[in-house]
Amino acid sequence: QTTTKPPPLPSPLRNSKFFQSNMRILVTGGAGFIGSHLVDKLMENEKNEVIVADNYFTGSKDNLRKWIGHPRFELIRHDVTEPLLIEVDQIYHLACPASPIFYKYNPVKTIKTNVIGTLNMLGLAKRVGARILLTSTSEVYGDPLVHPQPETYWGNVNPIGVRSCYDEGKRVAETLMFDYHRQHGIEIRIARIFNTYGPRMNIDDGRVVSNFIAQALRGEPLTVQKPGTQTRSFCYVSDMVDGLIRLMEGEHTGPINIGNPGEFTMLELAETVKELINPDVEIHMVENTPDDPRQRKPDITKAKELLGWEPKVKLRDGLPLMEEDFRLRLGVSKKA
Ligand code: NAD
Ligand code: UDP
Ligand code: UDP
Repeated sequence: QTTTKPPPLPSPLRNSKFFQSNMRILVTGGAGFIGSHLVDKLMENEKNEVIVADNYFTGSKDNLRKWIGHPRFELIRHDVTEPLLIEVDQIYHLACPASPIFYKYNPVKTIKTNVIGTLNMLGLAKRVGARILLTSTSEVYGDPLVHPQPETYWGNVNPIGVRSCYDEGKRVAETLMFDYHRQHGIEIRIARIFNTYGPRMNIDDGRVVSNFIAQALRGEPLTVQKPGTQTRSFCYVSDMVDGLIRLMEGEHTGPINIGNPGEFTMLELAETVKELINPDVEIHMVENTPDDPRQRKPDITKAKELLGWEPKVKLRDGLPLMEEDFRLRLGVSKKA
């Protein structure tokens, strides 16, 4: 029995752009806040083809409007809890609601997204030999008993609380990543992202920076949830995207903390927003939600040493950039 090999490709086809060494990159959750900024950065490189898969739960096509129709860009309406059969070289797996009000809205769906969604993306990575990066979260540290939080800290997480669908979901997602790595040799990267802010955040997202900026622009009181002494560390989105790409391109699996170590109480944040955006607004203390972590600040020694990364944009410089975007979207112009 003879086997027949297909004839070699005619040279014009072999030399066509399709067969050159383009990197095809899948971004799940690419219509969201961080994902769309990541897509902007990846699209700057002419060797990249970018495919976004998103179910538009918290994201929007509008965030990607400048790329729709671009020959190196593709947008798929897809829920990651369903299998996805495509051919790619890298996967940035971001799909998951990030704001507490959205991830608590349908907690079972949040767990499915983290567990089944991550399993599907790992199955895809295994089938096509792609490298996969998971955007995990500082929430894996829960209400931390170690401060600041290094990657070696295992966390203090309530397994049955209202935030657990997200925290525990991401913890299982991390476990799946390492099991696929150890069992199947998949190339993995895990970023533990700390609070990130910037243009394109959902205005009614419920997160603290977007709430305070929208409230200041609407002339409404800034709602500081009690006690107001709880802390967070806020990273500007361009720094975050830079960190994620360095992690993907580097040699280290992680987990690696990516965040800005500048630490602020929620009262300090409210005072800063008031001073920079609208000195006339009041600050109101309101009830908090259960299990709110009291403090959070990344130890970024690993990111500095292994990725040569550290954030560049200070909170005072980032807030006005976000203010500009929110003014446009809310239709509030600056007083002369
Ligand atoms: P986002 O809500 O703006 O974006 C998430 C995107 O995922 C949205 O476009 C949404 O429609 C999509 N999505 C949700 N469920 C999906 C599903 N089942 N299938 C397909 N698409 C789905 O949030 P973000 O702030 O851009 O966060 C992106 C990632 O970063 C998330 O994984 C989040 O957990 C992580 N993260 C964010 C922060 C932060 O401060 N923003 C902090 C820690 C971790
Ligand atoms: N999967 C996917 N795309 C692929 C390959 C797999 O979505 O290209 C899904 C598949 O449906 C499965 C999951 O990924 O639910 C895990 O795949 P794997 O091959 O690791 O496990 P198995 O299919 O053997 O359970
Ligand atoms: N927060 C607040 N006012 C708001 C929204 C949030 O004081 O209008 C507080 C909240 O209690 C928490 C912190 O801000 O301590 C960060 O909350 P966010 O939901 O932005 O993020 P996460 O809790 O996921 O870090």
